[in-house]
Amino acid sequence: MKSLAFVQRNDTRSAVGDFSPVLSVLSYYDLGNTVSPFLLLDHIGPGQLLPSTQQKGVHDHPHRGFETVTLVYQGEIEHKDSTGSGGIIRSGDVQWMTAASGVIHQEYFSSAFSQHGGRFEMVQLWVNLPAADKMGPPGYQSLTRAQIPVLDLPNDAGTVRVVAGEFDHITGPAKTHTRINVLDVQIHANHEVAFCCEAGDTAMIYLLAGRLQFSANEIMEEQGLAVMSQHGTGFVISALENSRLLVLTGERINEPMSGRGPFVMNSYAEILQGYEDLKNGQFGLKTSS
Ligand code: MN
Repeated sequence: MKSLAFVQRNDTRSAVGDFSPVLSVLSYYDLGNTVSPFLLLDHIGPGQLLPSTQQKGVHDHPHRGFETVTLVYQGEIEHKDSTGSGGIIRSGDVQWMTAASGVIHQEYFSSAFSQHGGRFEMVQLWVNLPAADKMGPPGYQSLTRAQIPVLDLPNDAGTVRVVAGEFDHITGPAKTHTRINVLDVQIHANHEVAFCCEAGDTAMIYLLAGRLQFSANEIMEEQGLAVMSQHGTGFVISALENSRLLVLTGERINEPMSGRGPFVMNSYAEILQGYEDLKNGQFGLKTSS
């Protein structure tokens, strides 16, 4: 059995572009080597957007060397990028963007959502790519709510949405470069759920809301990140209250990591090359041009 290694907690909220509040749950600066292949997790909201004729969000910015995974729980995000891809990510949808060799993109509240306003809540997860795929072609997977299978757990314990990988022989729609499970889970109060993964895999749980208990009676409050031990193949989570959580597991990418801002590569020379390529227009055109 995997056991709880530690709980990471950051109570400081800030803004990313116009998105606020944003909780930086983890970033590769502090935990990148610990929770490989996961690089970053931001919890955006929950918050209330006031109606406006202007679309707010994060303006044109680049990414290189990894993938960004955006899960929208409430609200609507409109995405445009330098490959010409774009679309609206609605409640329950997931956008899986492979930045790889480089994209410039913008992430805004959709025009309809901006006009009406309302509650918003999103998570953005960054997933590392193996060195062999870092300079591959960019890609974009738009996974709608209807494409993501939902499993009702026995005894009314809750539900598991399989975004990537598998749970109980149900496979999620995301195509990934390494073996990853992304599970969007609800556990009802006073129920427990068992998860499995392979020995040596990274396993972590981000609790969006609720209260959880682990096997040795450790308790985690909401907006904490539980990082499990590397040894062992499974773990059990009990919910003390109705809980919403992301269960993220996967095989580690055991390669050197060098990151700065929106670039995560294998060496500092490659980071400098990224800035050079961006300056020379090799990430494509800005979406606003
Ligand atoms: Mn971005």
